[in-house]
Amino acid sequence: MTLANIPPAPELPGARHLHSGKVRDLYEVTEGPHVGKLLMVASDRLSIFDFVLETTIPDKGEILTRTSLWWFEQLADLVPNHIISTDVPAEVRGRAVICERLDMFPVECVARGYLTGSGLLDYRATGEVCGVALPTGLEDGSRLPTPIFTPATKADLGDHDENVSFDAIVTTVGADTANALRDLTLQVYGRAEQIARSRGIILADTKFEFGVSAASPQIVLADEVLTPDSSRYWPADDWQPGRTQPSYDKQIVRNWALSPESGWDRSSGEAPPPLPPEVIERTRSRYVEAYELLTGERF
Ligand code: ATP
Ligand code: MG
Repeated sequence: MTLANIPPAPELPGARHLHSGKVRDLYEVTEGPHVGKLLMVASDRLSIFDFVLETTIPDKGEILTRTSLWWFEQLADLVPNHIISTDVPAEVRGRAVICERLDMFPVECVARGYLTGSGLLDYRATGEVCGVALPTGLEDGSRLPTPIFTPATKADLGDHDENVSFDAIVTTVGADTANALRDLTLQVYGRAEQIARSRGIILADTKFEFGVSAASPQIVLADEVLTPDSSRYWPADDWQPGRTQPSYDKQIVRNWALSPESGWDRSSGEAPPPLPPEVIERTRSRYVEAYELLTGERF
């Protein structure tokens, strides 16, 4: 059902389509100096509740690509990344990158400095998140005593990712790699959290994906990084544990979809209906605002 709304990936000169995810279209470069590398194109698609919406958000692919590129630079001294070039076909200029094609670890590497979302649900049920015991009395939005690594397995398209324990990751990738993924995740989160905080934004949690190439055993940071699609960003001024925090992400769309106004019945298994123009515009503005606040640059 999720697949239904993913349009066929456009044909691009000098590239062969490999795979389309919910948001990104992946190609292999077939001509020019980067033959064999990966061309990763960020579309304007948006997914909520694991549905890819029919409505796209203008400029979203470009905003997210620029957000990721900016973050990769801020983190370059901590971890190598997969970016090779932004010299991409004219059709996708600004919203695509050429990157190293990696063997991805099948782990969503999540760091949380604050408790909310699936972490909060797990905590309420068990007092733990991914096997990490937490103090009692935490609420929605509480800051954790120290940031934690809460990995998830990468689900197939259409399925939910599932929070798992660190031990489960050890079983999947081995102890050395699991330790390295945890350390890198927490290190990168720590840096990003500090940078965001200095801009008045709380980075509540975020998800990284890492891979390795045949050429080198070094672990490389891949995918998108620290975008509002992969991260929860909250305005620091409005932070108030004990309620849902306002956030710089798809919350506007989620709220609209769940409101009576949309007429959507979540239990129907159908994708939400097309978004009204004002929801599209407010969502676009929110992505732009997050980009401009974080980077200090104009979109
Ligand atoms: P999927 O459809 O793969 O389950 P998704 O819905 O998250 O995932 P997108 O985020 O739109 O899809 O697609 C990006 C895909 O590209 C992800 O599967 C991600 O793991 C993969 N990827 C990111 N960077 C690299 C890389 N350097 N080499 C290989 N694959 C990568
Ligand atoms: Mg993804």
